[in-house]
Amino acid sequence: MTDEHLQKAAQLLDENGLRKTRPRLEILCVLLEADSPLTGEQVFERVTAGSVDKATVYRTLLLLLKHDIVHNAYLRNRIRHFELAHHCKPDRCHPHFTCRDCGRTVCLYQAIVPDVQNLPAGFLVLHRQTRLEGICADCRVRHYS
Ligand SMILES: [Zn+2]
Ligand SMILES: [Zn+2]
Ligand SMILES: [Zn+2]
Repeated sequence: MTDEHLQKAAQLLDENGLRKTRPRLEILCVLLEADSPLTGEQVFERVTAGSVDKATVYRTLLLLLKHDIVHNAYLRNRIRHFELAHHCKPDRCHPHFTCRDCGRTVCLYQAIVPDVQNLPAGFLVLHRQTRLEGICADCRVRHYS
């Protein structure tokens, strides 16, 4: 937990009028340090040992989700994968790419997914999440060179 992350975590809670409790700060720091979405279980494994119990981790993640500080980036085997919402726009999340070979999921901050065409008449899109599947660059090199 770096000072920089702790400050950012405190700021996110302040902006949303949430009290700066130890579990909230810890969990936000874990998410700030992560480079890809984490399950509740993975967040629990990464908080300072003994400082936050598992039920609190899940309850806190749901609270942060409700305040739009955290997003459920995608479901895999019906398990939610959480990440901070700060790389997302209000109407769309950045896309994610899951490698079918190594199973890794990567955040694509730069990739642009075109707007949906030919929606049924009268439908209005409020939020978009995209998950792509394929083979990541590392796996391609391993297999095809
Ligand atoms: Zn998002
Ligand atoms: Zn891969
Ligand atoms: Zn992401």
